[in-house]
Parts: sequence; C-alpha cells; structure tokens
Amino acid sequence: MNKNSSNIMALVPNTSNKRETVCIFGTGDFGRALGHKLIQSGYPVVFGSRSTQISSLIPKDAEVLSHAEAAQKAAIIIIAIQRQHYNFLTSLAEVLRGKVLVDISNNLKINQYPDSNAEYLAQLVPGAKVVKAFNTVSAWALQSGTLDASRQVFVCGDDIEAKQMVMDIVRALGLTPLDQGSLLAAQEIENYPLQLFPMWKFPILLSLGLTAFFFFYCLIRDVIYPYVYENKDVSFFIAISIPNQICPVLALILLALVYLPGVLAAIIQLYRGTKYRRFPDWLDKWMLCRKQLGLVALAFASLHVLFTLVIPIRSFVRWRISSQTISQVLNNKTEPLDTTNAWLSDSYLALGILGFFLFVLLGITSLPSVSNNVNWREFRFVQSKLGYLTLVLCTAHTLVYGGKWFLSPSSYRWYLPHSYMLSLIIPCIVLVVKFVLIFPCLDKPLTRIRQGWERNPQYSE
Ligand code: NAP
Repeated sequence: MNKNSSNIMALVPNTSNKRETVCIFGTGDFGRALGHKLIQSGYPVVFGSRSTQISSLIPKDAEVLSHAEAAQKAAIIIIAIQRQHYNFLTSLAEVLRGKVLVDISNNLKINQYPDSNAEYLAQLVPGAKVVKAFNTVSAWALQSGTLDASRQVFVCGDDIEAKQMVMDIVRALGLTPLDQGSLLAAQEIENYPLQLFPMWKFPILLSLGLTAFFFFYCLIRDVIYPYVYENKDVSFFIAISIPNQICPVLALILLALVYLPGVLAAIIQLYRGTKYRRFPDWLDKWMLCRKQLGLVALAFASLHVLFTLVIPIRSFVRWRISSQTISQVLNNKTEPLDTTNAWLSDSYLALGILGFFLFVLLGITSLPSVSNNVNWREFRFVQSKLGYLTLVLCTAHTLVYGGKWFLSPSSYRWYLPHSYMLSLIIPCIVLVVKFVLIFPCLDKPLTRIRQGWERNPQYSE
C-alpha cells in the first residue's frame, strides 16, 4: 500500500457551522462507534435499521428509522453491514440514486471474493456513487477515543466530488485521509487489514529454520561428540556458547542474503540483455523483503555482541584461565606471548567492531524517519556501498576468527565442519560474484542495460 505523503491531505476542518446529516445503515458495533464519533464532531446522525426500536447502546442524539426513511434524510450513507447482507439494498435502488454510499466493509480472508466489496456494492446500486473508506479503522479505536491525527484512512472512489465529501468527514473526525485513486484500489484496501506483517514472513521463517538447523548442528558437534568420544559433559554450552555461535552465523548469512538477490538480478539482466523483462516471482518477493532480512540480521549481530561481552564473567572461562595459570605456576614455566595469535585476535576484534558499527548505521538509515530525509543517491550509497563494506568486514571478521579451522582435521567432528565455515559459503559467493561484476567488461553493459539499452530490442521500429 502506497502511503505516499504527497497524498496526505492537509488537515483543514470544515468551517461551516452546520454539518450535513450523515446516515448509517446498520446499528452494529462499527455503525454505533462511528455514529458516536460523528455526533461528537457535530454531525446529525440518522441510523437506518431493520428495527426502529431505540436501544440504550445507540448514541442518544441519533435517530433510528427504517432504511428507506433514513436514506432520504442524508446525501451520504455509510453502509455498516457485512457484504453478505448487501442484497436488500437493490430494493432501495430508487432512494439511493445519486447518494454517496460509503463502503467500510472488510472480509475474513484475503481476496475472499473475485471483486472488491465496494465494486460489488457499486454493481448492486448502479445509481449511487460508491466510496471505499474507514475499513482500516476499528470500532474499538473509534469508541475508546484512541484515535489521533496520525491514523490514516484510505479512501478510493470513481466520483471525485463524492470522495471529497467523504474525505471532509474523515478530517472532521481528526483523521488523515489518504486518496488511493479509483474504486479499482478497493480490493487492495480491503486486503490491507488482513495482512499479518507480510514483508516479515519470509525473513522470520527463514531465520527460525536456520536457527533450528544450526542449533542441532552445533549440539551434535559441540555437545554430543565430546560426550561420546571424550566422556565430557559440556551440555552447559547450550546456554551461551551455542547461541553465541548461532547468532554471528545467522547474522552473516542473512546479511549476505540481503545482497544475493541484487547479484542474481544483475546476472539475469546481463544474460537477457534487457531490464524490461520481469524477474521470476520468487526473486521479486525476495528483493521486496531485503530490508526486513537486514534488520533480522542486525538483531542477531546485536545478540552476538551481548553474548560476547559476558564471556569474561562465565564460570567455565574463568576456570579455564585459572587452571592454565596454575599449571604454568606448577611447571614453573611462563608461556611466551604468541604475537601471531595476538595479531589475529586483535584484527578479528577490530573487524568485528567496525563491521557492527556499519551494520548499525545501515539499520538506522533504513528507518523511515531517516530514509525520508536522504535523497535516492544518498540512500543507495549507504545501502549499497556501505552495505557491501559491512559484508566485507563481517566476512573478514569470521575468516580471521574461523580460518584457522579449515586445515585442522580435529575441527571436522563426524566429518562436520565448524559452523563458521558453513556461514562463509554464501557471503564468499556474493562477494566473489560482485567482484567479478565490477570488471568493466560486465559493469559497462550492465549499467547501459539499467539505463534502458536492450541487446535485442523487443519493440524496434
Ligand atoms: P455487526 O456488529 O455484525 O453489525 C452489522 C449490522 O448489520 C447489524 O447490527 C445489523 O444492523 C445489520 N444487519 C445484519 N444482518 C442484516 C441483514 N440481513 N440485512 C440488513 N442489515 C443487516 O458488524 P460490525 O462489526 O458493525 O461491522 C459492520 C461492517 O463494518 C462490516 O462490513 C465490517 O467488515 C466493517 N468493519 C468493522 C470493523 C469493526 O471493528 N467492527 C472495522 C472496520 C470495518 P440492524 O440490526 O440495525 O439492521
């Protein structure tokens, strides 16, 4: 859903003293809540209902009439009824001719019907002007007064005047109308409240799957193997050691997966010689959730930092250091400083610190409040150039830390390599392919393709 701020209309309240009567069909939860809010905002409200008996739940300043009588009293009629009960409206076609009908309905499932509820309403009552609005606002929010001006109301409709009238009401209620265009947009607006973090689904499921895989992988290598072969119980590794292996591994893999689709897209464009053919669906979807993948990766990296900070206070670590010291004292022998190891350890820490710093910077620039304040070139610079630099630093951090295990046979327990080695596969592939794509013989045609050049133009004159 495009929430382009240019669509946000200025909050200009209707300054005329007398507000026009608004009719609401249906005295259910939403109808009553909206009626209450409208009355508070100074609108006379008349309900159209199957029963004209006044109940204590209905706002006391509202009238309750039959549908036909109520419709005659207002130019705008809000249909606060479920779609499956719309049929009776056909019998009111004459009364509803020329009226503005506001469809506020939602469905139970995404794309439940082939057409949107608003289009269905327009088809049932062809003489009326149908506008879709209010469906993303809940009756509870209207009733409890937790609405504020930042609450956006998506509005669409084919009649500009009718849409304007509805947007005036939205503003008068202290809400912000967002014009979404014609009634064709209604289906998307109706699907909107039914979506559950759509962009987060893939990153969350992927990270859950990878977490489970690496947890069992590390459990077998680091806990079960020493128990079977050395009769050592190191099951306490499950609390900190194993999570502190999983978190950096996942952070690195997910960060690489943010940049992998871009590299694949470049290869596809080079192969096809055009940018005008659509990418496969899976690649399109993958590209759309790169920000979320990056944020999940940042969360794992932050956890890795926290787990690393507590290493010196772990009882196992303190025991290991003190037993090494005691053994040196007993043998009356001080181990000399291994400068190679000192270099490796300091470089690994420095790379990690720099990588994490840039990672946080990337996360901050992806926040809407920040990204809205930089231009497209600046955003691309941060997300692409700094992003790749972050990937290089984090991959180098892992290589310096885990590189020594590649040649050591003891690191292949049950032929399983250390998890750090596995985590390097995707980042190394991404970086190598990206490096190859920088060569002028590939970069130049790719840049031309992205500027619109085609190797075999489809629509040549
Ligand atoms: P509701 O509590 O079930 O009320 C619907 C009303 O429709 C009933 O009170 C009844 O009013 C009328 N009605 C029921 N059967 C009818 C029939 N056969 N013929 C004519 N009228 C009939 O539903 P609601 O929660 O108010 O929701 C109403 C609409 O608003 C729905 O389309 C829903 O998707 C939408 N919506 C609801 C919310 C929410 O938070 N509840 C939020 C956004 C959108 P009378 O007895 O007065 O005739």
